[in-house]
Amino acid sequence: DSKDFDSEVESICPFCGVGCQISLKVKDGKVKYVDGINGPANEGRLCVKGRFGFDYIHHDHRLTKPLIRRNDAPAKGMNVDPGNWQDVFREATWEEALDAAADGMKGRGREVAGFGSAKCTNEEAYLFQKIIRQGFGHNNVDHCTRLCHASSVAALIENVGSGAVTATFNEIENADVAIVIGANPTENHPVAATYFKQFAKRGGKLIVMDPRGQALKRYSSHMLQFRPGADVSMLNAIMHTIVEEGLYDQQYIDAYTENWEAEKAHLAGFSPEKMSEICGIAPEMLRDVARTFAGAKSAMIFWGMGVSQHIHGTDNSRCLISLALMTGQVGRPGAGLHPLRGQNNVQGASDAGLVPMFLPDYQSVMDDGVRSAFTDVWGSGDFSNEKGLTVTEILDAVHAGDIKSMYILGENPAMSDPDVEHARDALAKLDHLVVQDIFLTETANFADVVLPASAFAEKSGTVTNTNRQVQMGRPAVSPPGDAKEDWWIEVELAKRLGLGWDYESPADVFAEMKLNMGSLNNITWDRLMGENVVTYPSLSPTDPGQSIVFGDGFPRADGRAKFTPANVIAPDESPDAEYPMILTTGRQLEHWHTGSMTRRASVLDAMEPEANCSLHPSTLRKLGVEPGGMLRLTTRRGTIDVMARSDRAVAPDMVFLPFAYVEAAANILTNPAVDPFGKIPEFKFAAVRVEAV
Ligand code: SF4
Repeated sequence: DSKDFDSEVESICPFCGVGCQISLKVKDGKVKYVDGINGPANEGRLCVKGRFGFDYIHHDHRLTKPLIRRNDAPAKGMNVDPGNWQDVFREATWEEALDAAADGMKGRGREVAGFGSAKCTNEEAYLFQKIIRQGFGHNNVDHCTRLCHASSVAALIENVGSGAVTATFNEIENADVAIVIGANPTENHPVAATYFKQFAKRGGKLIVMDPRGQALKRYSSHMLQFRPGADVSMLNAIMHTIVEEGLYDQQYIDAYTENWEAEKAHLAGFSPEKMSEICGIAPEMLRDVARTFAGAKSAMIFWGMGVSQHIHGTDNSRCLISLALMTGQVGRPGAGLHPLRGQNNVQGASDAGLVPMFLPDYQSVMDDGVRSAFTDVWGSGDFSNEKGLTVTEILDAVHAGDIKSMYILGENPAMSDPDVEHARDALAKLDHLVVQDIFLTETANFADVVLPASAFAEKSGTVTNTNRQVQMGRPAVSPPGDAKEDWWIEVELAKRLGLGWDYESPADVFAEMKLNMGSLNNITWDRLMGENVVTYPSLSPTDPGQSIVFGDGFPRADGRAKFTPANVIAPDESPDAEYPMILTTGRQLEHWHTGSMTRRASVLDAMEPEANCSLHPSTLRKLGVEPGGMLRLTTRRGTIDVMARSDRAVAPDMVFLPFAYVEAAANILTNPAVDPFGKIPEFKFAAVRVEAV
């Protein structure tokens, strides 16, 4: 009912990387409901999170005042009730809290590290990396891309010269074949999934590859439920068939790639018969998929964290890139590579340089010319030419005594890191921890200073979705109490660190970003205010942006993409007599990451109020546990008790465990072993013992 609100404001959904455009309907200073509007990625559609998951912003747990740890607080640990924290913290003024935050970091150089956030805007991400680099002279700054698509980005930069998608997911409407591998879009990118289902309904061949069954199976032409961790064997067998049967596109390979002969020779050793024993997919199915993909006029490949979160995550992505290159499926309508990005702004935060090896636009910190281009704009001296530490390395460095002070903005490593007790111990060990967030998260339990920030609906700023679409977020309501916009907090902190910043708005920050970010050419703040969205690259001030890139070569030497052969590498730990099953973790539709927002969203919490795990019904029968009963899961890292669900989609030797629930935190169990290139942990595979409680 249009009379049911006082005002409406257009913004962007704060959850997944699809980046649905929304209209926030406001009454009496509060968001009352949300509608989808006609953005390029959603065309009015929303999923349950976007439509019903907004009221966390008005939850009574919201931080409304800066907090400082009391002198007589109990020892740091997981002991703070977000609704009743007075024994641990005391309220402070902004002046006092910002001074305390800065005093604990000032002059400490390499002892300081920062975790920024893919939940913040591009401008906030840019300022965050600048604080660490300009303020402390090094690159120990990272964010949650390290835990989601770092391996995909490593492979993309290595082989096609750019970490972003080569085509928007909406291009599937021009494809006749699509692979979705290691992704469950119905749960994790639900609006994108509607396009995939429409594609299949109009006759497109949808090849789904996932060790766990999923809803897209019903729409698939081929469903490959391969053994967990066996991606490379399966993909190499498919590519072997393409080579063996001469189905590759020699003209494309000659024109646009390098290292083909090495790839071709390498693939000779991966026959479907041999690889079938590893991946569990019949040789004929592997051949049929190869023929279907290679025979497509236009084909796309989509992937998610089932591909990236392995110690061989970079190799998995190398295979997908090679498959697209050998069949010439890049740079045309309906063709391309698309890692489905997780967080609403993980693409933008990465583009903005919130990573330890790259400045904005993936410009290497090791390049003297690049660094001086930034210091010229920043008006300050040089910073280190060494790559900084990643998320997991920073916490190891805390244990080693090398990092003593941290600034964490909108990130929750006390829930999201693998082997999370190790992460919690590290946070407790810090001399000084500043946490900037909207709730007293699990990580804020360990803070010395807590800075109350703004939710998405309370601030201005741009965010960039999985499609490379830079979109404008606008404030609809005011932050509660004394909470402030994140960019303002960062600027005030930087002033106290002596950095002399004088930005007056996010628009000022965006203007500075453009000085060293070619990706933002032709994209201005004013343009985004008028048009809501521009896709990068944009070729002129009126070009809405290019949905497909690399039609005429790649941003690498000689314009050529590269084949990088991949070998089969087993997961870091194998099931054995003591830990006989396989644990895999992920998200579920109703909850977002560590649950800090969606478990405070009334509709979503009512739909999924309880920590749960899913097993095959035959496995539950063997364990003597009914659905709804309790299970104890134990790995080499720890133990949790969690409610069991029956799910035929889960293989009999697997357990699927969502990671949103603090009372049964999945990451107590997960393996911290990392991919050597992307440094991403193996969240998708751990050996586990499952017992009835
Ligand atoms: Fe939000 Fe993603 Fe759902 Fe769209 S698909 S409404 S961006 S959570």
